[in-house]
Amino acid sequence: MSAAHPTVQRDESTDSFSFAEACKSLEAENDSARRQSSRHGLWIAVAVYVSFALPDRWLIPDVAPLTIAARFVVAAMALLAFEALRLAKAKIVWLDITCAAALLAGYLGWLYPAIGTHDVAAMSYYMIFGAIFMMGANLFFSFSFRLSVITSSFVLCAFFVTIETYFPSSQVYKLAFGMFYVSCFVFTSSINWRLNVERRNVLLNAAEARYQHWEASERGRSLLELSNTDYLTGISNRRALDRRLDECWAAWKDEGRDFVVLLIDVDFFKRFNDRYGHQEGDRCLAVIANLLKAVVESSGGMIGRYGGEEFIVVMPAETPSIAMSLAEKIRMEVELLAIAHDERPDDSPIVTVSIGVAFTSEDVGEKVERIVREADLALYNAKASGRNCIRRFDPSLPRPDDNAGKLVPLLTAAIDRKLVSLVYQPIFDLTNERARAVEALMRLRMPDGTAVSPRTFIPVAERTGAILELGKWAIETACRDILMTDRMATVSVNVSPIQLRSPGFAASVADILARCGVSGSRLALEVTEGLDMDMQSEVLKCIADLRALGVEIWLDDFGSGFASLSWLRAIEFQTVKVDRTFLHDCSNPRGLTMLQDMVSLIRNRGNTILVEGVETAAQLSLLKDLRIDRVQGFHMGMPVSAERLNAA
Ligand code: C2E
Ligand code: MG
Ligand code: MG
Repeated sequence: MSAAHPTVQRDESTDSFSFAEACKSLEAENDSARRQSSRHGLWIAVAVYVSFALPDRWLIPDVAPLTIAARFVVAAMALLAFEALRLAKAKIVWLDITCAAALLAGYLGWLYPAIGTHDVAAMSYYMIFGAIFMMGANLFFSFSFRLSVITSSFVLCAFFVTIETYFPSSQVYKLAFGMFYVSCFVFTSSINWRLNVERRNVLLNAAEARYQHWEASERGRSLLELSNTDYLTGISNRRALDRRLDECWAAWKDEGRDFVVLLIDVDFFKRFNDRYGHQEGDRCLAVIANLLKAVVESSGGMIGRYGGEEFIVVMPAETPSIAMSLAEKIRMEVELLAIAHDERPDDSPIVTVSIGVAFTSEDVGEKVERIVREADLALYNAKASGRNCIRRFDPSLPRPDDNAGKLVPLLTAAIDRKLVSLVYQPIFDLTNERARAVEALMRLRMPDGTAVSPRTFIPVAERTGAILELGKWAIETACRDILMTDRMATVSVNVSPIQLRSPGFAASVADILARCGVSGSRLALEVTEGLDMDMQSEVLKCIADLRALGVEIWLDDFGSGFASLSWLRAIEFQTVKVDRTFLHDCSNPRGLTMLQDMVSLIRNRGNTILVEGVETAAQLSLLKDLRIDRVQGFHMGMPVSAERLNAA
């Protein structure tokens, strides 16, 4: 059928597929209705056809037994064939062909026994009913135009062949009935053509409407998708994540379903941007986002960009360990990407991520922001622990100082602007009561001269990575101030765990020693065991390298953290500095016993014992009684500049 739709002009190359799909789906939906209507039509036609047995008996009684038998046979066969095909789920076109064949068979099956009748006059009128079969083909059933024309042409031909060959008829009869049959054929066929065009138009209009509906909902869907997608990386944006967070929060509150939040930050990303340019920075974020999406979605979580170089994961999880192993997988996979980053202050040559993890807990509070804040604090601690690591939220972890923001730019420029300096505090040998060593302590001043406590600026320097430069500067300055001038036999410098973890740290110490021309055995590095410091193999390897240079490794603030004993077991320290709180607690018997126990523990391990924080003569004499090797504190000497050290 070649009827062109008057309104639908579609661009074949772009959306014709979707439009064709709409047509197809409509046709499929119409299919069952068409089957039903063909079936009903056939059953009605058969009933009418069989009921014409009565007129047969009145009009052509002599051949009626034959015509009636033919009617029943044709009716039974037509119904049987149709139902069999229907049950076999034959295509609609085959059902239509069966109905068309039934029409023809009905016509011929009645016509040929009937024309044998002796009642020629009655039969000559009765033959007009042949036109009913033609109408049936063209108007009653919903055949295609072609099938209708073929069927009604057969009826027409059968009529002409019959009156020409078998049935005695006059010329007038032939002319009148012939014209009637032909005009019936023409009219019903043309109506059939119009009906088919109409049907087609209805289908195309419905398809057009469906297509437009689909297009509109598609547009709506893509708009929604766009409003939930991060333009740069293609993953979900903060808005979508906030919604997911709310859902998880509600599920946790109502049904107790636990979930985790992971905050992932790309380490030293600002430096990456400065070094490689913003385009490369964007590409780096997109690559990491794709990787995170694959890893996180395979674990059933949702990942989104939380802003800048920060990503967030929200995932239902029954235990924190599931979240921790996902976090570790993410950290490792990013490392495996091996994206070059040669501008990092910590000498690691590739892009890495730090991850903070927070898990739903009993006292998570009233608002969902609380768990995000906890993940943020955990992330802060991951950064402070040297980056490229994972930290889980723990209420006892240090919190960022709100004033820390001001310090960040200051610390990176502190050396050049001479805002940073070292002071030295003497360390006394109790055996001869002489100072043989000094501890270097860093000092920072704001441009307006205000002093900032190391307890404030050291954590910020650790978090931002500025400690790496400051730490090297401190070692070199201490070597120059104390060792090159022979002000003291030994100088101890505090080092942060991050320095020990940074690749090439031992080599940079060797370089400083060589440039200053001093022996490694005159330098001691004080390491503080803290929560943040894992027994990582890099740390142990770095300590071994430093020992190979002759540098002494001292354990600072012993007893202040959880991991003192494992540190003592894992590393051979030359000196152990007992945290001053143990000395200050000695005013009560319990505290005194504690200090005594600690001293005997260290002594049994063979380490030199140094007690810090000696503030009174009484404390000093107690330490003498306990036969402590070395002491340090305000009572013997305040931290002073290198120049004032000689005078002191
Ligand atoms: P620390 O290494 O345990 O240093 C000893 C701290 O105790 C110093 O505080 C010192 O001034 C103080 N102190 C000394 N004697 C007494 C005393 O008798 N009583 C009391 N109450 N305190 C005493 P400061 O200089 O504020 O340093 C604090 C911490 O900052 C240091 O603890 C160390 O962990 C860190 N720090 C200082 N300089 C550096 C550095 O160059 N690098 C690194 N990574 N950390 C440093
Ligand atoms: Mg120290
Ligand atoms: Mg200390």
